[in-house]
Amino acid sequence: MDRYRGSLMNTFGDPQRVLVHGEGALVWDADGNRYIDLLAGIAVNALGHAHPALLKAVTEQLGTLGHISNFFTSIPQVELAERLLGLLDAPGRVFFANSGTEANEAALKATRRTGRTRLVVAEGSFHGRTMGALALTSKEAYRTPFEPLPGDVTWVPYGDEAALAAAVDDSVAAVVLEPIQGEAGVVVPPAGYLAAARDITSRHGALLWIDEVQTGMGRTGDWFAHSASGITPDLVTLAKGLGGGMPIGACIGLGDAGVLLGPGNHGTTFGGNPVATRAALTVIETIENEGLLAAVNDLEQMFRTGLSDAPGVVEITGRGLLLGVVLDQPIAPAVMNAALDAGVIVNAPTADRLRLAPPFVLTPDQARDAIATVRAVIEEVRNA
Ligand SMILES: *Cc1c(COP(=O)(O)O)cnc(C)c1O
Repeated sequence: MDRYRGSLMNTFGDPQRVLVHGEGALVWDADGNRYIDLLAGIAVNALGHAHPALLKAVTEQLGTLGHISNFFTSIPQVELAERLLGLLDAPGRVFFANSGTEANEAALKATRRTGRTRLVVAEGSFHGRTMGALALTSKEAYRTPFEPLPGDVTWVPYGDEAALAAAVDDSVAAVVLEPIQGEAGVVVPPAGYLAAARDITSRHGALLWIDEVQTGMGRTGDWFAHSASGITPDLVTLAKGLGGGMPIGACIGLGDAGVLLGPGNHGTTFGGNPVATRAALTVIETIENEGLLAAVNDLEQMFRTGLSDAPGVVEITGRGLLLGVVLDQPIAPAVMNAALDAGVIVNAPTADRLRLAPPFVLTPDQARDAIATVRAVIEEVRNA
C-alpha cells in the first residue's frame, strides 16, 4: 500500500485490498483472505474470474493476432459487430472503443452530426469521466473542478415523463438516458418511461441515446435493459460487461444513426482490436451456452427473497443482477467495510444504498453464504 501511494495518482483514494487471484465468483487478497465477489469489478466480470472459455479465447487470439490498428480489420471485429446488431434485433453500425466513457464520446460526436447541439440529460446520471461524458454526468463534485465543460445540456428529473416532454423540442439533438441509474444507487424509472422517451424524441426528430454501459450484456436478465420496454433506441452504448474484463466499449447507431459518423469523423488506435472483440464474442457465446441469462433471473430471486425481509432493509431496487439494497439509515459505507472484513465484496454508491452486481456464475451456495453475511453485517452495523 505504501508503494501504491508512492507511485499511483491519488484519484481513487486508498484501495480496499490488494487482490492477487480469482476463480469464478471468488477472489483472494495478498494476505490469503478469500472473498465472495458481489461486485464483479463494477458489473464487468459477468463470467467471474479466470473463466476457462475466456482464458482460452484470449490466449488463442493473442497467439494468432493481437493488435492491428484500424487501418485493418479482423474476423472477430466484424463478427462481434454483427452479433451485437443481431442481439439488438435492428440494422445499424457499430463503433468499437475501449471503455464506457469512450463509447459515450463517440455517441456524443454522432449527436453533433445531426446539425443540432442541445442534449437533454437526466439528473442522477453517470456517463463517464472524460470531458464530453462528464458534461452529461450530473454529480457536482465530479464536474465543478473541470468546468467549463462542453455545453448545451438541459437537465431533467429522472423518471419524470412530463418534465421530459416539456424539455424536448425541435432543437434537441438527443435525449440521453440510463435504463436503470447504476451509480445513483440502482434507481429504476417508472414503467413506461423509456417508451415515453421514445415517443417524445421521435415526435421532435431527436435521437434517443440509451447508455447501457452498466445495464447491458445480460446484467438485468435480458441482453439489454431497454429490451423490456419494447423500444428501439437510435444510439446504444456498451462497455462494462461486454468484454468480461477485457477493456472494450461500443457505440451502436441503429437505423439512420448508424451513418451519422463518416470517414475522418472519429477514430481510435486500440478500439475493436482482435483480442478485445474475441473476448466479447466469447462472453456472448458463454452466456448462451451456460444458460446464464436464466441464472441471472434465478439469482435475482434468491437475493430478493434473502434480503428484502432483513432488519434495516427498506427495499430492493434494480433488475437481474444489478440490485440496490436500500437501508433505513445512512450506513452503507460502514456495511460495505464490515462485509469486506467478513469476506464479501459489495459497494456503497450512496450513503444508504448497497449495490450488488455479482458475476452471473455465482453459485446458489455462494449466494446463500453471501446473503447470510450481508444480513449479519447490516445487523451488526445497526447495533453498533
Ligand atoms: C461505468 C459507466 C460509464 C463509464 O464507463 P468507463 O468504462 O468507466 O469509462 C458510463 N456510463 C455508465 C452508465 C456507467 O455505469
